[in-house]
Amino acid sequence: MSESLRQSLQWQPQAPLQLLDFDWLQKASVEVAVLRLDLVDPLISGNKWFKLVSHLHTAANAGAQGLISLGGSHSNLLHALAAAGHRFGFPTVGLVRGHPRQTPTVADLQAWGMQLHWLGHGDYRARHRADFWHSWQTLYPHLHAVPEGGGGLAGARGCMPLVAYVQTQLAELGWADYHGWWLAAGTGTTLAGLALAEDDRHLVYGAMAVPASYGVEEHIRRILQAANDSDTGSFAAHTGRNYRLVESVRGGFAKPDAQLLEFMHACEAQTRMPIEPVYTGKALMALREYVDAGRFAPGTRLIFVHTGGLQGRRAQPSSAQKS
Ligand SMILES: *Cc1c(COP(=O)(O)O)cnc(C)c1O
Repeated sequence: MSESLRQSLQWQPQAPLQLLDFDWLQKASVEVAVLRLDLVDPLISGNKWFKLVSHLHTAANAGAQGLISLGGSHSNLLHALAAAGHRFGFPTVGLVRGHPRQTPTVADLQAWGMQLHWLGHGDYRARHRADFWHSWQTLYPHLHAVPEGGGGLAGARGCMPLVAYVQTQLAELGWADYHGWWLAAGTGTTLAGLALAEDDRHLVYGAMAVPASYGVEEHIRRILQAANDSDTGSFAAHTGRNYRLVESVRGGFAKPDAQLLEFMHACEAQTRMPIEPVYTGKALMALREYVDAGRFAPGTRLIFVHTGGLQGRRAQPSSAQKS
């Protein structure tokens, strides 16, 4: 087994849980604590490490040396993967969508030694074909392939421990419990992990950063189904069905509008917590709309997950960013 992959699996990142202080929360007597996944590490930021963990396990167990994945030229997943490879010393390959171009993300990937291949849009579209990975596996037989966005049951399983991250920090906030979760959903993999770990104890709200036509709902259902099919024994009874998707794509995926940017500025001024327009900004704005509409009873306590993504903010706000 690769020593550096094994080492990466011993890393136990920490994420603080902090109370959010907004006037619109106070007005509605709703309390929100934010799980700061943007702070797990200076370089390996956000939910993507968690989505990669099970893939790292699989790779290590299969005797692979490193990982190969794909994404856009602002990809948070490729960024986290390259950072982890650099930190722990395992090789990484990134298949990047489009024609070669320089972005702050791409500069990091290169600096961290990720081997890049640019796939024209036509080639990139072929990623869903059954034989897509064959040629790449032939070229890189020592690497384990991670599907786009780190999705699927493997990605969701890696996010399940996030529930424990919150449980162990509740007492510090003086909270005995909470009513639900609120987080951005791209593929919905992180949400599915929380729903599985919660096992119906708390409702999980997913603010959709993408149009419904991307199939988020279906992807989540497939993950939950796969979990139920594969689990035996004590896990067999869990359903993980206690979630709700909230429309929050606004002007389109990665298309921030003036209102969103204004809202983000106001939030950052009040809390000093940085957010970005593609996922966390939209999720927080959708939460505000819910709260303002009186959809949460006074006294409601929620966990908001800061899923990271700040590295993508270095590019022009109008440019597209993909998981
Ligand atoms: C990838 C990403 C998401 C979406 O995560 P999913 O598991 O695909 O739903 C949310 N926020 C940020 C910052 C991301 O990079």
